[in-house]
Amino acid sequence: MSIKENLQKIIKSIPESVTLVAVSKTKPISDLMEAYDAGQRIFGENKIQEMVSKYEEMPKDVQWHMIGHVQRNKVKYMAPFVSLIHGVDSLKLLKEINKQAKKNERVIDCLLQIKIAQEDSKFGMQAKEAFVLLQSEELKELKNICIKGVMGMATFTDNKNQIESEFKYLKSNFEQLRAHNCDNCDLQIISMGMSGDYPLAIECGSNMIRVGSSIFGARNY
Ligand SMILES: *Cc1c(COP(=O)(O)O)cnc(C)c1O
Repeated sequence: MSIKENLQKIIKSIPESVTLVAVSKTKPISDLMEAYDAGQRIFGENKIQEMVSKYEEMPKDVQWHMIGHVQRNKVKYMAPFVSLIHGVDSLKLLKEINKQAKKNERVIDCLLQIKIAQEDSKFGMQAKEAFVLLQSEELKELKNICIKGVMGMATFTDNKNQIESEFKYLKSNFEQLRAHNCDNCDLQIISMGMSGDYPLAIECGSNMIRVGSSIFGARNY
């Protein structure tokens, strides 16, 4: 099936309230343009340099989501245009994003990446740390960021029960975080679900899915 057909099939299968991020990492501009021509406007990349060069080549109405681990010294390259940063996992990183957002006279939307997988190779903060962060005095001073929600990645496993319980854990933490007041927060987004598990993620309350290989095909590297 073509990229366009893959996209249409996924869009038809998900509720309208769920946002589809087309994960285009490692894929050439021609593939992104095929998705763009089929109507897709939100693209996710996991490397800042690659996202910057694609941003320069693609039409300017594309919304770019950074879904990978973010190195602080590279935030400045994406600060002028990035529309949502999914992988925020420390106050230190938030401060740098705030600083670069301010330089660009904008507010950058962020998601807190919460550790939900049992594997310890995954980035993210413990749910408890997220609560502490949202209530911290230091966060209040960061006027150029807005925390829009949470992101999580389930364990890479065939065990559906385990994945389901990890997704439910993220959803329940999201609800609890939302109950706290916070000046520069507007908790609306739960980013969870990829090609292999997005239907389950949606059942568990996801409203933003990050889908790569089911749209663009397998990645070779
Ligand atoms: C690569 C990636 C995805 C997409 O993975 P697929 O299995 O190809 O859909 C989603 N989220 C993150 C954080 C990724 O790095």
